[in-house]
Amino acid sequence: MSKEKQFVTEITPQSEDFSRWYIDVIKKAELMDYSPVRGCIVFRPEGYELWENIQRDLDRRFKETGHRNAYFPLFIPESFFQKEKEHVEGFNPELPWVTEAAGEKLEERLAVRPTSETMFGHMYAKWIQSYRDLPVLINQWANVVRWEKRTLPFLRTSEFLWQEGHTAHENEAEAREETMRMLEIYRDFVEDFLAIPVIVGQKTPSEKFAGAVDTYSIEAMMKDGRAVQAGTSHYLGTNFAVAFDIKYLDRENQLQYVHTTSWGASTRLIGSLIMVHGDDRGLALPPKVAPTQVIMIPIGPAKTREQVVGRVDELYAELKKAGIRVRVDDRADVSPGWKFNEYEMRGVPLRLELGPRDMENGVVVLVSRVSGEKRVVEQANLVQEVEKMLDEIQKEMFEKAKRFRDENLKSVDTLDEMKASLEQKRGFVLAGWCGSEACEKQVKEETGATSRNIPFETAEKKSACLVCGEHAEHTVVFARAY
Ligand code: AMP
Repeated sequence: MSKEKQFVTEITPQSEDFSRWYIDVIKKAELMDYSPVRGCIVFRPEGYELWENIQRDLDRRFKETGHRNAYFPLFIPESFFQKEKEHVEGFNPELPWVTEAAGEKLEERLAVRPTSETMFGHMYAKWIQSYRDLPVLINQWANVVRWEKRTLPFLRTSEFLWQEGHTAHENEAEAREETMRMLEIYRDFVEDFLAIPVIVGQKTPSEKFAGAVDTYSIEAMMKDGRAVQAGTSHYLGTNFAVAFDIKYLDRENQLQYVHTTSWGASTRLIGSLIMVHGDDRGLALPPKVAPTQVIMIPIGPAKTREQVVGRVDELYAELKKAGIRVRVDDRADVSPGWKFNEYEMRGVPLRLELGPRDMENGVVVLVSRVSGEKRVVEQANLVQEVEKMLDEIQKEMFEKAKRFRDENLKSVDTLDEMKASLEQKRGFVLAGWCGSEACEKQVKEETGATSRNIPFETAEKKSACLVCGEHAEHTVVFARAY
């Protein structure tokens, strides 16, 4: 078997075992490694750079909408969690506790933060006195810990990196507007930057955040048909304001509770990126998020090598100057074919080849990772041609993922139809729901699928509940989820 063949077969095909494919790819592409502590992972530079790119673009969007970053402490006193009943019930099973430090037992246990509504609540009560102090729009980039029973690298880890926005407002209308604004930022970011189509909607009461009045989410479909909740935005009403006594004097000099929101997205986005776009050859990264957008590979015999590499370096400088993330692989001891496979596996969206014949003709060859399309372009227009092709690849990846999502979104009328649909092929199911928790529970027990959200937009409105047949209050997307 040739070296190239051998290399590729190290990745389990998706059709054989999707979970193994996922682990093979993320390890082989050096995105992560397991840590000695269960459920925690090391983000290796290739994986961490994806996070840095995600961070940079999201952060820009947050700042453009008036938010500022701050940093709140990792440890949260136990008493804080007791203040909001639903919050403590929801989070208690997942909390790790610090009970001892420097050899002494602590007077009060400290939780390692799973989310920071309580700490923000405590501080906001100090900082907010009057309507003039509102709104408060703060975000933090941090690590959080939730001791998850079931873990999977990036998608569900015990420690993960995320951002959490926490805002306080004068009234419900403004807080709800903020909740929707941030949901829309997530939607636009995930669709535009990560090329992942999402379903935007509201969580059912049983799936909402512990302590929220309403939770909204964006849901993405992985290539095995399972769902990932890619971001959430919560309207918290006055729940945390009451618990932490966050009051302000309004314009009529009356004391009022503030209305708060919170919203978060995590390193889970990296997992989604891999599961939505990857294939049997490995990762496939949309250009906007790819740490390397273009890999340049000089080809041809040894006698022209020096000249070719010289020209590649000149073109590299041009691309770099234009702000394109580009790298050169001019190793002489590795064959071009091997390199082609290597960078395809790593998901680099565009390959640039230059050989002696191309030098003579003043052209280069551009090859798309996703479609395999080859384009011979003039060196004189290189920057424009590369930018154009990267742009096309970004769009094509979104369209491809959207086609897949739409093809695997099925509308059903009964629980039996849903079971048949999930057995036949995995994917999302659109169905009517009466609004009762019992029916929702039955779906979960019998199919393993949970309600993902009540989409704001659907092609179809259902009239009857898929379980009991009563009037459908809502049309819901159900799916098995990560
Ligand atoms: P939440 O605070 O529960 O609304 O979570 C905010 C976001 O963090 C969710 O939408 C998920 O995308 C993500 N998330 C929640 N739990 C985990 C986890 N264990 N690992 C990675 N990401 C997570």
